[in-house]
Amino acid sequence: MLTQNLGYPRIGGQRQLKKACEQYWAGKIDRNELNQVARKIKEENWQTQRDAGIDLIPCNDFSFYDQVLDMSLLLGVIPQRYSAVLSDVKGNKEIDLYFAMARGYQKDGLDITAMEMTKWLDTNYHYIVPEFTADQDFRVFYENIFAEHYAAKQLLGSKAKPVLLGPVSYLLLGKEKEAGFERIDLIKKLVPVYIEIINRLKQQGAEWVQLDEPCLVLDLSKKEKEAFDLAYRSIANRVSGVKLLLATYFDALADNTALAVNLPVTALHIDLVRAPEQLEEVLALAPAHLQLSLGVIDGRNVWKNDYEKSLHQIEKAVGKLGADRTIIAPSCSLLHSPIDLDLETALDPEIKNWMAFAKQKLKEVSDLRQIIKGNDEALHINKQAIESRRSSSKVHQQQVKDRVAAITDADASRLSAFPIRQQVQHERFQLPLFPTTTIGSFPQTDDIRQLRANFKKGALSSAQYEKAIEQATIDSIRWQEEIGIDVLVHGEFERNDMVEYFGEQLDGFLFTKNGWVQSYGSRCVKPPVIFGDVSRPNDMTVRWSRFAAEQTDRPMKGMLTGPVTILQWSFVRDDQPREVTTNQIALAIRDEVVALEQAGIGVVQIDEPAIREGLPLRIAKRPHYLDWAVKAFRISASGVQDRTQIHTHMCYSEFNDIIEHIAAMDADVITIETSRSQMELLQAFAHFEYPNEIGPGVYDIHSPRVPSTEEMVLLLEKAAELLPARNLWVNPDCGLKTRKWPETKAALENMVAAAKQAREQINVENII
Ligand code: GLN
Ligand code: ZN
Repeated sequence: MLTQNLGYPRIGGQRQLKKACEQYWAGKIDRNELNQVARKIKEENWQTQRDAGIDLIPCNDFSFYDQVLDMSLLLGVIPQRYSAVLSDVKGNKEIDLYFAMARGYQKDGLDITAMEMTKWLDTNYHYIVPEFTADQDFRVFYENIFAEHYAAKQLLGSKAKPVLLGPVSYLLLGKEKEAGFERIDLIKKLVPVYIEIINRLKQQGAEWVQLDEPCLVLDLSKKEKEAFDLAYRSIANRVSGVKLLLATYFDALADNTALAVNLPVTALHIDLVRAPEQLEEVLALAPAHLQLSLGVIDGRNVWKNDYEKSLHQIEKAVGKLGADRTIIAPSCSLLHSPIDLDLETALDPEIKNWMAFAKQKLKEVSDLRQIIKGNDEALHINKQAIESRRSSSKVHQQQVKDRVAAITDADASRLSAFPIRQQVQHERFQLPLFPTTTIGSFPQTDDIRQLRANFKKGALSSAQYEKAIEQATIDSIRWQEEIGIDVLVHGEFERNDMVEYFGEQLDGFLFTKNGWVQSYGSRCVKPPVIFGDVSRPNDMTVRWSRFAAEQTDRPMKGMLTGPVTILQWSFVRDDQPREVTTNQIALAIRDEVVALEQAGIGVVQIDEPAIREGLPLRIAKRPHYLDWAVKAFRISASGVQDRTQIHTHMCYSEFNDIIEHIAAMDADVITIETSRSQMELLQAFAHFEYPNEIGPGVYDIHSPRVPSTEEMVLLLEKAAELLPARNLWVNPDCGLKTRKWPETKAALENMVAAAKQAREQINVENII
């Protein structure tokens, strides 16, 4: 029985790659130094995997920025606008072209925009979207993969298994840059280049080549299914003597099972963590020659594998296929998991014993094989850990469970319908038409960050720290009053991150020191870990919101992160459904909303920027998700009186296709990112006749550019043509924490002026 791994984190245990890339971009190290860092990381990764007893070890899973961008360079899919970058005169090599595609290029009199970035299926990893033209050509452009395989072979021999994103998924995950063709039709031109690459790898001694086809778990059109057939038949016809491993992950093959098992490859990998239900059907349909790689260890979470459960799956497969046709593996690339639990020296030992990061997951893979072979020492140790977690009082809080079980529909409904609430709130707040507000955070200046760092280090007493945060808050309130904002915010100066801030104050969360995961390029995130039932021992935001409200006569908005976003940006429990965990968080947020109301805060915003991200890959699974996600928001928002105005905020995603669910959240006001799309999104809201109040962002906060009053008035006019002007708010796209003060002040002054102009110019009665 073989063991394998599909991919390993490449950022380095100390985030060396991040640091090296950023130094290279800043001109502080040269190409050689950058390559040395990369080589060291790769070699360490290969050794780690070999030492763990993995038989098929990935290479070409390393990437300086993103593995999909690597494919684009390998296949020569380089948009025309970068043609000037690669030149010996400028001293640029392929790697500079590569970074130009990832990050844009502003040098040597050139100003070229970066390629688009989007989320890798349903993960928080972002890839660079390939751009195709109608006459797209493909050729082997960048030879790096061959060098990397060569280096891996030196160390690993025939264990070195090159990894490629498969041709169909590569096309499907890209986009057409001009009209008049469908990218899937490029498959005939693309496949010969794959054949060339695979044959060259084979000549270099590759025994296995892994082709990732995550799109096999999506809803596919007839044409897309045919593309799979065509691609893999052509490849099988033209390469021989190399074993192809087709890797799928993140969901079940479902209606694509027959297609997938019949593709002419040596082995098929399936994800049995996300979709254990598919094992039976895959086994039933697998033809006699097919080897099956069982993804039994969760590549996307931090928990120890339950060996008994995995053994059950493995034994089932061995019973049908025999040991020599069964491969044991993690569910997907370990890219999505932190690197090494051994580096976490400060974790509660009891909880640490329930966890496994990438390095530990490799050991789990080989443990499982040992146990199958009859050496079940590791099984007993594992059983103890699993049992300790199952019964620990650190995980289970009966009160929390009882409260979730007792949630009723009434808990998810405001007391009155929106029109009644709207009237009560209008009478209470007496806001002008086109009321102005912001999304919450103000610039997190170096001073503020330094303050927090010093406080954490102990260099600043908590009294000194609080005093300084109070002053920043007061300053921002005075300034908002001066320029004439209607509904104020306190500025979120006391917060590090919108999820961490709440996680740190809730029971059931823990934080790691080094649990970094790549988000995109050199950006890494360190998600909190939800290990137990979530509850709220104390008020979380009341102190700062009350303080802020006391400084002004105007309405002060309380600012919270919503339950779905907290869930989505954390490592979550795998011992209960996501919706149960979300409901626990929702109740904690609900209590906070009520506490704010009791403290006299009349407006509370519950941010849900990540609600769209949780959408399942398969269309059939989406309604269920949207039901519980919307309900969780409503639970968090519905503990208050009619007179308390609930806002929500969303950004980052396309919301067109989930508008009815956004409406079902029933927030009194939604502020939403729209300025980059020139209000296109609003058409969807208008078409749907979105009933509640809405603040389409008129100021794109993602760049330092200061929008003029005129352009914001134009956006407001557009909005007022589409939606009842009485329901419109005026605000930026998102929080302002990444901006600097000068541009923020200038832009918000213009924004207030735009609202004033709109009040005079836009005749509300005449429009709608
Ligand atoms: N209230 C948060 C802020 O202003 C919202 C951030 C977000 O939507 N990502 O920073
Ligand atoms: Zn936002």
